[in-house]
Amino acid sequence: MTRILIVEDEQDIASVLQDYLRHAGFETEHVMDGRTALERMRAAPPDLSLLDVMLPQLDGLAVLREARAHSSHPIIMLTARVEEVDRLIGLELGADDYICKPFSPREVVARVRAVLRRFAAGGAEAATAAQAGALALDETRWHAALEGATLQLTRSEFRLLQALAKSPGRIFSRGQLLELAYDDALDVTERAVDSHVKNLRRKLAAAAPGHEWIRSVYGVGFSFEARPGS
Ligand code: CA
Repeated sequence: MTRILIVEDEQDIASVLQDYLRHAGFETEHVMDGRTALERMRAAPPDLSLLDVMLPQLDGLAVLREARAHSSHPIIMLTARVEEVDRLIGLELGADDYICKPFSPREVVARVRAVLRRFAAGGAEAATAAQAGALALDETRWHAALEGATLQLTRSEFRLLQALAKSPGRIFSRGQLLELAYDDALDVTERAVDSHVKNLRRKLAAAAPGHEWIRSVYGVGFSFEARPGS
């Protein structure tokens, strides 16, 4: 059975999460603080951890940093504020996803499933390799193809897609995409990023329908998502 470790010092939130996750067929374990979390990750490695950022004593970021030294199991951070996520992503500590409070437990279950699916595909590296097969980007000719279908992209769209697809599943903030995808970020606004992403999504959907290739994370940014099973 797939085991989820919930690291959360607020009992009410933890109880709701446990109920929903168990109902969805997961086994759960709940710990209240960071030190116990690290102990449990070592003693009985979970398949996935839900890790609150604000914890007494050892906070979620310190736990994430320590956990990453000895484990690559998927970790989803729970954070109190949308504004915090931008900063967390900037720290690049290796979380696999972020969920903002207040959240709907249903959303948490969906995100847990999505992250586990990504890992079941053989880990981040395999996902990247599979993705490289589905998406072909030739920078010398500015030629892009998705699942064999040619994409007619502007240079901005091409650069955006290139930046996102380099790390499938990773969430990029608009600010990060500005830096990665535009030569002169000063001339481009975050609103322009939104409109380029919108056009890009439309073109990806037309070329290879039936999958949301670019996920929009409300208030945070965007990620490129591999098609499940690819
Ligand atoms: Ca907390």
